[in-house]
Amino acid sequence: MQEVKEQVDSRLVLHCFPKTHERPDGKFMPSFGFRSLLGAMWLQMWWLLTATGEEGLRHCPWCNRVIRISPSVPVENPQNKNARGKYKTRMDKTYCSDNCRANYHYYSVQKPLREKEAWRKAIEAEQRAIAAEATDDKPIDVA
Ligand SMILES: [Zn+2]
Repeated sequence: MQEVKEQVDSRLVLHCFPKTHERPDGKFMPSFGFRSLLGAMWLQMWWLLTATGEEGLRHCPWCNRVIRISPSVPVENPQNKNARGKYKTRMDKTYCSDNCRANYHYYSVQKPLREKEAWRKAIEAEQRAIAAEATDDKPIDVA
C-alpha cells in the first residue's frame, strides 16, 4: 500500500495541480485541476486511496467538495434491538449540506427564472411604449 501511495503521489505532482473553483455566487473554493485525462484518472485514484473504505465519491455541485458515500456500519450488539449502525449516507445524496442545496437551487433555478421574468417584463414594457408612440404619430381623425 505504501508503494501505491508513492506511485500515486508522484503522478499527482506530474499531472495534477491545485486550483480555485468559483461558485456561481462568485465565492472561491479549493479544487484540483489536471493536465491530461491521465491526470484525471490519477486524481480519481487518489480520492479512492484516501477514502478509507467508502463506497463512492461525488462532488457537491455547489462548492465542489468531495462527498463520500459511506457504507452503513454494522450494529455492535445484535441482541439490542434499538441499537443501530450509523446511518448510511444516502446514495442519491447530491449536495454536501442543505446550505449548498439551497444555494445551488437559488443561483441555478430561482435567480435565472427571476431574471428571465424581469427581462420579459422589460421587453413587454418597451413594446408597449413603441406601440403607444406609433399610435401617437397617427393623424387624429376629427369627425
Ligand atoms: Zn457543498
